[in-house]
Amino acid sequence: MNKPVSAAAPAITTGEDYINSLRNRGLKVWLFGELVEEPVDHPMIRPSINALARTYDLAIEQPDLASVVSPFTGERVSRFLHVCTSAEDLVTQNKMQRRLGQLTGTCFQRCVGMDAFNALYSVTYELDEAHGTDHHLRFRAFLTDMHKGNFVVGGAMTDVKGDRGKSPHQQNDPDMFVHVVKRSDEGVWIRGAKAHQTGCINSHWMVVMPTMRLSPDDGDFAIVGAVPVDAPGITYVYGRQSCDTRAMENGSIDVGNAQYGGQEAMVIFDDVFIPNAHLFMDGQTEFAAMLVQRFTTYHRRSYVCKTGLGDVLAGAAAEIVEMNGIEKASHIKDKIVEMTHLNETIYGTGIASSYQGYATRSGAYICDEMLANVCKHHVTKLPYDVSRIAQDMAGGLVATLPSEQDLNHPEIGRLLRKYLKGRDDVSVESRVRILRLIENMTMGRNAVGYLTESMHGAGSPQAQRIEIGRAMQLEYKKRLARILAGIDEVDDADATANSLSEGYFQRVFALPGQPAGEA
Ligand code: SF4
Ligand code: FE
Repeated sequence: MNKPVSAAAPAITTGEDYINSLRNRGLKVWLFGELVEEPVDHPMIRPSINALARTYDLAIEQPDLASVVSPFTGERVSRFLHVCTSAEDLVTQNKMQRRLGQLTGTCFQRCVGMDAFNALYSVTYELDEAHGTDHHLRFRAFLTDMHKGNFVVGGAMTDVKGDRGKSPHQQNDPDMFVHVVKRSDEGVWIRGAKAHQTGCINSHWMVVMPTMRLSPDDGDFAIVGAVPVDAPGITYVYGRQSCDTRAMENGSIDVGNAQYGGQEAMVIFDDVFIPNAHLFMDGQTEFAAMLVQRFTTYHRRSYVCKTGLGDVLAGAAAEIVEMNGIEKASHIKDKIVEMTHLNETIYGTGIASSYQGYATRSGAYICDEMLANVCKHHVTKLPYDVSRIAQDMAGGLVATLPSEQDLNHPEIGRLLRKYLKGRDDVSVESRVRILRLIENMTMGRNAVGYLTESMHGAGSPQAQRIEIGRAMQLEYKKRLARILAGIDEVDDADATANSLSEGYFQRVFALPGQPAGEA
């Protein structure tokens, strides 16, 4: 049985409180063929915990940016637990994400849960309207409990999927998608696996959701529920990252960013119980697509987080050219301008998506879907360009530097410090540290956070192209062309209106302050 949410324990406030809250949970975490005794103390796992802890400390340093007063408890809680009720709320999420990207240089793992909360708030509301059920009330009660403890909640969406040509109920092995295997009056038991789950081991709770549009035959797969991360029956298998074992070497240079890292793991659910109170969808297959679409709308503009990492990388590139004494070369200045242009292009589309936010029927605000998809699609490309320029500016040393042990060795270290010298007033160690940071972000451990996650997180590039194609209003645009070409009558307003579907374009045309249409 799931344990009840402990509302009596003091709410987590500082990063240190948070780290302590993760101890002694007895999680079953596999890494290198062994069970990890205490993830908090594992050198490969700890940097990811530190990155998440930074979200708590930022809430203390800048409460208006990273926390809100909970409408449920009246106490300050993390902004990552907040359901947006204005466009300003959506915009502030983005500003918090950029700041945290700047502070950690990696994925701080908390946005999946935030975006799942926001999507579930409106979807459970509309599901109850259609079915006369009480999922929304249950969800609000769960949210209140999460606010009381100021917990970290992860969102578990991506199933392992098996044969991609088959729907969930057609799979030879039904466990390829998380599904209900048993029921009682008290709740359900689920089985299956979620792949590459960001920050799952560093969370307190997980919200399990379907990964795609479902058909009426997929009823057992239309399950949304909350489980504590340490629920019986859950196993985690830690995902490796490039150069990850450098964190297990002594020293702090070769690792590139000794303090912070991201985390992805496979989560295996082996008949895990979810009580009714924590079920937020059960069998309503027609709402799976709405949930996935709203979640990805929030999450694709959450990738503004990567602009914070882009700021760090542009800074590192500017540092290394200065250390090499070539900062005044015109092509160097232009390259930094190009990095900035690419980075701000991502920011522009993400923040615009949030500014275009509008109210759903539940009162929760959602951002602009088209711009969210355009933002994330940029993210699948532009950080690769930013990284290419950073590697260009760093020079070959970014990939050929000797080890920290050689650098500090009494015999060879003396020669290395002579031959690795750049400008006189810059220490060799500083120069090596900046190069290692560029390596870390473009091909080392945090390249997962800056590049691979940018490619595949919140859906691979084609997923955004499908949504962009779906919402691009081509009939309306053809109509515009036909009018100007003199094929159609100019004053046939009905034909124009009929060629314009609900949603995106109304939001484009709604003037500031006017209520915007809903997709
Ligand atoms: Fe947040 Fe970005 Fe990490 Fe996703 S990739 S959880 S949006 S920091
Ligand atoms: Fe992600």
